[in-house]
Amino acid sequence: MEFLHAQLAVLQRKLSWVSVAPVNWKGYVQAFSWTVTLFESYLLLRQYPLYSKTEPPAALAGHFKPEVFAKSQAYGRDKARFSLVSGIFKQCLDSALLHYGLYAWTWSLAGTTIAKLGYTPEYEITQSVFFTGFLVLLSSIPTLPFSIYQTFVLEEKHGFNKTTPKTFVLDILKSYLLSAIIGGPFLAAFLYIFKWAGDRFVPWLMGFMISFQMIMVVIYPTIIQPFFNKLSPLSAGDLRTRIEGLATKLKFPLTHLYEIDGSKRSSHSNAYFFGLPWSKHIVIFDTLIKESKPEEVEAVLAHELGHWYYLHPTKLMAVSQLHMFAILAAFPAFLHAPPLLRSFDFPKEVAAQPPTLIAFLLFQMLLTPFEAVIGIGMNAISRRFEWQADQFACDIQEIVGESEGKGMGDMGERLGQALVTLHVKNLSTVWVDWLYSAYHHSHPTLTERLKALEGLKARRIKRE
Ligand SMILES: [Zn+2]
Repeated sequence: MEFLHAQLAVLQRKLSWVSVAPVNWKGYVQAFSWTVTLFESYLLLRQYPLYSKTEPPAALAGHFKPEVFAKSQAYGRDKARFSLVSGIFKQCLDSALLHYGLYAWTWSLAGTTIAKLGYTPEYEITQSVFFTGFLVLLSSIPTLPFSIYQTFVLEEKHGFNKTTPKTFVLDILKSYLLSAIIGGPFLAAFLYIFKWAGDRFVPWLMGFMISFQMIMVVIYPTIIQPFFNKLSPLSAGDLRTRIEGLATKLKFPLTHLYEIDGSKRSSHSNAYFFGLPWSKHIVIFDTLIKESKPEEVEAVLAHELGHWYYLHPTKLMAVSQLHMFAILAAFPAFLHAPPLLRSFDFPKEVAAQPPTLIAFLLFQMLLTPFEAVIGIGMNAISRRFEWQADQFACDIQEIVGESEGKGMGDMGERLGQALVTLHVKNLSTVWVDWLYSAYHHSHPTLTERLKALEGLKARRIKRE
């Protein structure tokens, strides 16, 4: 631990100029965020013409009826146009709010609010919790028309929306309530650790964040998800037998197998698993069950269990901890930096003793360009994992052994079929620009996956 603190201290000394140098941080943040938005718009403009193609790629030609292909192109075009407009609008809004000192204004609003409740400015954590609440409300109201449009116009037009206005409003209220109940105490504890541990907060906060994530893994499905969706045990039958068989053969610690009523909100469909290492739950969307044959759903699960087999969620979590660690390690230099707050219009008396939350928030904004690059790296990792999971499904017979894996030799073909069905039903985009895909997609494209599945099949045949 001493070694860690010594290393962190070296880093702090290197960054010590931050606490004195009058840098135009706000100008940098404006420039960064505009660069990211303009780059994302450029990507959309690269992708956009592909929605005018009239034929699917050769590999998919047999799977798409001409009218379904035309529908998927129209859906993609509408979504791209929506992203372009909403992206630029949000950027203009953020930029204007930043320019006019939104953060400083909201902080002082939180200050007057807690003063009315009888708290002095020494109650920094209380003020921070109010500040966050106000900020969430202030920033979500102007973008509300966009989510209304997306749900009730865009998705509706293409036949995906199953949300009623009532569900929509209730969802928003429920998520505000849950954020207040869970987010409020979380934020208070987070800030308390800073105060309590002083400049040695890094290991303590890391420990806190990891424990919080573990707790969420347990309470999310049992306490939070039921607020939004209904999970019911998957009824007995062919599908249940298949999945239980698969889990047993792979020694996957399956505790519960659920069906989720995803169709209540949208017809997009999927399946996933979660839980602690010794007790896992599998959740399948009712839409997937309705649209695919049991043997195809089984193949989707074989892919999902491939993620488990290769410890993908654990690896992703380790990467995200490393990411968090890097952020926290660089943060102390920005924690006691009056010029940073001054640059964002905070009055002298607030900037002299920067509130932890404000410093952290502004510091996060400075990281925008790095985060964009990290996002590309994370997508690359995630795509690699997808290839591995597809390969796992193809080779599952060898993995569980010839006798156990009887009848599983065609899992790759079944997976390919299931992917095509999902893709067609979701009207997912078929033609994808490579740069757009590298930036945005955590999954390989369907054409790439089908090609890879073909390759794996050819390799299997050669082996036999
Ligand atoms: Zn996957």
